[in-house]
Amino acid sequence: MLIPRPPAYRKWLYLRGFYWGFYTTLKHFTLNLLHLRKIPTIQYPEKRRERSPRFKGKHILTKKLDGSIRCTSCYLCQTACPADCIKITASEHEDPTVEKFPISFQIDLLRCVMCGYCEEACPVDAIRMGQEYEWADFSESNYIMDIDHLASRPSLKGGVISKLPT
Ligand code: SF4
Ligand code: SF4
Repeated sequence: MLIPRPPAYRKWLYLRGFYWGFYTTLKHFTLNLLHLRKIPTIQYPEKRRERSPRFKGKHILTKKLDGSIRCTSCYLCQTACPADCIKITASEHEDPTVEKFPISFQIDLLRCVMCGYCEEACPVDAIRMGQEYEWADFSESNYIMDIDHLASRPSLKGGVISKLPT
């Protein structure tokens, strides 16, 4: 059976795409080299992009007005977390008006997918996704954030007060 072949000139049509691609690359290269337009690259880390308030960065445990952790150890965030990276250990509080509080609260950042479900699940604004995103490190163990780091790391400047602070 004879297979009809396309006309010979057709195989040269790709040259048009080749020259068009080459022209586009050369155009951008020249414009950027001669600074004839504003280059969209941000000179990080000297300059940093303004982030949306909805940005989901490193977690924060908020505090009450008296400085204690707002979390009531209800486990809703741990249950909602799809990556199973939150581990909470609750304890009874000596104040009878406070049912429970966390003696340990850990988030494994290497497992976290930054979905924000923990923040949405919390009924008392005790956990938030903050604005920090620079957490490169050499040791895996430094990616397990404990309760002190979540609530009182130096970048939080004393901590963040919950919207429900009592
Ligand atoms: S952001 Fe998502 S994956 Fe990360 S701790 Fe919260 S619920 Fe879990
Ligand atoms: S952070 Fe919020 S949702 Fe998670 S255990 Fe504490 S109070 Fe419950």
